[in-house]
Amino acid sequence: MTDSYLTLVNSGLSKNIAKKLGLPRPAILRRYHPGQPLVPGPVLLIGSSAGTEALATELLAWGLDVRRHAGPKDKLGAIVAVLDEVSDPEDLAEPMLTVGASLRSLLPGGRVVTISRLASAAEAPARAAARQGIQGALRSLAHELRGGATGNGILLDDGVDAKAPSALAALRFFLSGRSAYVDGQFLLVGSPEGQLPADFDQPLAGQVAVVTGAARGIGAAIAKVLHRDGARVICVDVPAAGEQLAKVSNETGGTALQLDITGEAAGQKILEHAHSRYGRLDIVVHNAGITRDKLLANMDEAKWNSVINVNIASQLRINEVLLASELFPQAPRVVSLASTSGIAGNRGQTNYAASKAGVIGMVAASAGAFAERGGSINAVAPGFIETEMTARIPMATREIARRMLPSLQQGGLPLDVAETISFLVSDAAGGINGQTLRVCGQSLVGA
Ligand code: NAD
Repeated sequence: MTDSYLTLVNSGLSKNIAKKLGLPRPAILRRYHPGQPLVPGPVLLIGSSAGTEALATELLAWGLDVRRHAGPKDKLGAIVAVLDEVSDPEDLAEPMLTVGASLRSLLPGGRVVTISRLASAAEAPARAAARQGIQGALRSLAHELRGGATGNGILLDDGVDAKAPSALAALRFFLSGRSAYVDGQFLLVGSPEGQLPADFDQPLAGQVAVVTGAARGIGAAIAKVLHRDGARVICVDVPAAGEQLAKVSNETGGTALQLDITGEAAGQKILEHAHSRYGRLDIVVHNAGITRDKLLANMDEAKWNSVINVNIASQLRINEVLLASELFPQAPRVVSLASTSGIAGNRGQTNYAASKAGVIGMVAASAGAFAERGGSINAVAPGFIETEMTARIPMATREIARRMLPSLQQGGLPLDVAETISFLVSDAAGGINGQTLRVCGQSLVGA
C-alpha cells in the first residue's frame, strides 16, 4: 500500500519534471521519531492576553526558541496564535494578518496552531461570531499551506485556560510530527483534567492496552505505536487472522487474543485476559471494522447488519461490560474508530456511514459515564488511509482521492491514525472527552 507517485515527485529528475509540468507535488510529511525536536525551527507566538504570557513560559520550558516578532528573513518551525480573548469579529484582523505575514517564513513541515475559546449559543452574538470566525479562518489558511505544513486549532471550554494539561498536551501534539496527517481540525479541551507525563517520549509507560482488529492495517500500527509509547498491548482479532495476529503481538512484545468482538461474551473475555496476564486494563481501542459496500437500493439485510454489528453494536456491548465491571480501572481511556464517511457520507456506504456516525454519537453520549470514573472516550475519524481496505478502491478513484486534498495531496498512513490514538489515550489528554478528531489531511472522502 504505497503511493509511488509521492516517491517519484520527491526524487531527482522526476521532481524537476513534475515542477515544469505543473503537476501536483505532494511533500513527504514530517513524522514523529522519539527524541526528535518538537518543531523544525523557532516558534512565533502571537497574542497579548494573559494566556499568551503563560504559554510563552511553558514553551520556553520545553526548550523551544520562542519569538514574539519575526522578521521577513526569519525561518519559522511554527506559528502559535493565542486568541482566547477575542470578543468581536473586528478583533481578528490584527492577529490573523500577523499570522498571514509570517506564512511565507514557515519551514516545510511547519505548523500553525490557534488557541481560542469555544463559541456557545449563550455567548453575546459578537463574541460568538469572533470565536466561530477563527474556525473559518484557520480551516481556510490550512488549505493554503504547502510543504507538508498543517494548521489546527485548540478550543478551550469555559473554566479551562491555555495552560490546562490537555491544552498543553494538544499543543504539543499539533506541533509535533505525531499530527502529520491532522489538518484543518479543532480539538475541544472540555475540562482541566489530565496529567502531563514525566517523559513525553513514553506517555503510556506502565499502562495495559487492548487493540481490536490488530492483525493488520491500522490496528497493527496502533499496537506498534502504543507499545513504542510504553504500553503493554493485547492484540485482538478473529481466529481466521491468527497467524498475522501472532506476528503483530510478537513484534510488540504483547499477547494475542483470538476473539470475534461480535460474540456476546467478548467484553468479559477481554477483561479476563487482561487481568490474568497483566493484572490490569487501562486502555481499549475499538479499531476492528468492516465494509460491505452496496448502493442502498441493492443493499441486503446481511450486509447492513454485519457492518452495524462489528462497527458499532459490538463496541456498545463491550463498553457496557467494561463500565459495569470492577476490574475496569479508575481513569479508563477508550478510543473508537469512526470515519469521515460517517461525517460527510459516501456513495455506496449507507451501512458503513450509519455505523461510523453511530460511533461519533456513541462517544459523545458516553463521555459522562467515563468522566464519572475519571476517564475519557473519544473517536478518531480517518479519511483516506493507505491500507488493504483502500487498496481495493479502483485505481482512478484512489488516485483522485489522494490528490484532491487541497494542501497535503496524499493519503495518510496507518501510522498517522495510530499516533493520534496514542495521544488521545494518554493521561495528558484526560481533559478531552466525547470528541471526534479527524485524521484526514483535511479531506472528506474516505472508507
Ligand atoms: P482492515 O480491514 O485492514 O483491518 C481490520 C481488522 O479488523 C482485520 O484484521 C479484521 O480481521 C478485524 N476484524 C474484522 N471483524 C472483526 C471481528 N468481528 N472481531 C475481531 N476483529 C475483527 O481495516 P483498516 O483499514 O485497518 O481499518 C481499521 C479501522 O479504521 C476500521 O474500523 C475502519 O472502518 C477504520 N477506517 C479505515 C479507513 C481507511 O482508509 N483504511 C478510513 C476510515 C476508517
